[in-house]
Amino acid sequence: MKYARLLALILAISIITSSCKKSADTATSSTPAVDVPKFNADSAYAYVQHQVDFGPRIPNTEAHRKTAAWLEQELKKAGGQVTIQPFKAPTFDGATLELKNIIASFNPEKQKRIMLAAHWDTRPFADKDSVKRDAPFDGANDGGSGVAVLLEIARAIKAKAPRAGVDIVLFDGEDWGEKDNASGRVPIPEEWDDWWCLGSQYWSANKHKPNYRPYYGILLDMVGATDARFFREGHSMQYAPRVVDKVWNAAGILGYADTFVKADVPGLTDDHLFVNKIAQIPMIDIVQFAPNVGWGDFHHTTKDNMEVISKRTLEVVGNTVMWVVYQEE
Ligand SMILES: [Zn+2]
Repeated sequence: MKYARLLALILAISIITSSCKKSADTATSSTPAVDVPKFNADSAYAYVQHQVDFGPRIPNTEAHRKTAAWLEQELKKAGGQVTIQPFKAPTFDGATLELKNIIASFNPEKQKRIMLAAHWDTRPFADKDSVKRDAPFDGANDGGSGVAVLLEIARAIKAKAPRAGVDIVLFDGEDWGEKDNASGRVPIPEEWDDWWCLGSQYWSANKHKPNYRPYYGILLDMVGATDARFFREGHSMQYAPRVVDKVWNAAGILGYADTFVKADVPGLTDDHLFVNKIAQIPMIDIVQFAPNVGWGDFHHTTKDNMEVISKRTLEVVGNTVMWVVYQEE
């Protein structure tokens, strides 16, 4: 009896010791088990510049048409299986837009998939500008930066494929919403939910593959400005809090906790909202919107040009998203 008890005690101690050892091993293994490629910020910056060089990517313009062809070509060059989804959509000011969602699938045979998205169109007017409220603007950050990060990730995937499949979805018609302080004045046709985010509404109701069910999605919007900080956005926290944790924790591991701040901001109308609501795919938004500040001062103004773009911010976002994607198996 006594010996049996002693034996049990020794056994218990050895179990505790070995389980402590195990958790200590886990705690020190914060370096990724997989070799995550490094994000090339110079190349991403060049991708922003290239879009800006086309001119504002305003729907129904030549710059918009040329950009669509170039995006398709770049995604194919990176080995993506590209699907173009053309559709028409109305605007609050009476236009009918010819729009195109552009989808590129990498390793399409893989069951487990991660969806990465951005919008590629530019808002047609700088309605928050202090002077030129009707002028078009470059949209280097609003649109351009998210697309650039995804094109660069596509290039990285070509060089070394992650274990999960990846789908890059470039939404069109995100940014033709009503003018500042006019929200909700013009009634919306029955088949649409909002004047903003036309491409994501259309895609969510007409996915490029009917049974498409990614594990989760990450939307990038305005991810290139100098000193940008990203907070936990309300709809992301409501629909996909674990994905938010995953991404913000990854940023912390990589030393980017100053950029990915663990504090909350309210829900914003952006493409992820419709992907969550209509397609019911959990999707988060990495977007520049800060407490007491709101959007950066470039937002929907003529200041949104190459001068606001920082290679460092593109790199922080690119490395964080890649780290998350390459951990999945
Ligand atoms: Zn915008």
